[in-house]
Amino acid sequence: LVVAEDVHKSFGRLEVLKGIDLEVKRGEVMCVVGPSGSGKSTFLRCINHLEKLTAGRLWVNGELMGYRQKRGRLYELRDGEIAAQRSDIGMVFQRFNLFPHLTVLGNVTEAPVQVKRVPRAKATAHAMELLERVGLPDKAHAYPEQLSGGQQQRVAIARALAMEPSLMLFDEPTSALDPELVGEVLDVMRDLAKGGMTMVVVTHEMGFAREVGDSLVFMDGGVVVEAGTPDEVLSNPRHERTQAFLSKVL
Ligand code: ATP
Ligand code: MG
Repeated sequence: LVVAEDVHKSFGRLEVLKGIDLEVKRGEVMCVVGPSGSGKSTFLRCINHLEKLTAGRLWVNGELMGYRQKRGRLYELRDGEIAAQRSDIGMVFQRFNLFPHLTVLGNVTEAPVQVKRVPRAKATAHAMELLERVGLPDKAHAYPEQLSGGQQQRVAIARALAMEPSLMLFDEPTSALDPELVGEVLDVMRDLAKGGMTMVVVTHEMGFAREVGDSLVFMDGGVVVEAGTPDEVLSNPRHERTQAFLSKVL
């Protein structure tokens, strides 16, 4: 479902991604770990084209991100057109980024109503199902500031799911949470994975990676140092850099 081919990204002279080749198959969960500054967030942002690649190619669901193919030629998409491509991809960030002036229900229905022109009644019914799924049906009319961090993050997941994406990207979704709230968010993510969602998850929750991940990727310095099944990488890291990193986080 996701194919990254020699993905490069520079900010000015700073080369952050130095040729990433990865593939995530439909229904797979890929976990990405690595030290701060290694380019994990940048890579996620390249997947949904929040960052334009400097070189290389990236496909999601068979579509070359940022381009349209027409009569065998490639045309660069304009911003509005990229938004349409991106609507197939849900993203959840470290900070919850809910709209503070909207209720939980408002947050979850906003994009389907505004972007997909789903009738409000239908969007509301779907939103209630999603809030049920993340365990928050009774918070539909609350405002974000009235919720705990874990609850806000579960709303953020419901909001992303409301667009019925074929891919979900998570960027350290639990690292801003108090320890006792981490589990409830990981539970929702685990259910989502069991339901067959394709997911790329940047996380340092190694227990989650081992249990839920189909693959684990260790990034350092803008390259993939090591990739394999979570068991392979965690129990038997082959590279010194992976070993050094894991000894710090495990
Ligand atoms: P962390 O674990 O701290 O979140 P990360 O692996 O997600 O780190 P990135 O956020 O991808 O790392 O950043 C990689 C490098 O790219 C860093 O050196 C960062 O300063 C740089 N960088 C990221 N975004 C930009 C930007 N918009 N402009 C300039 N430099 C950037
Ligand atoms: Mg990051």
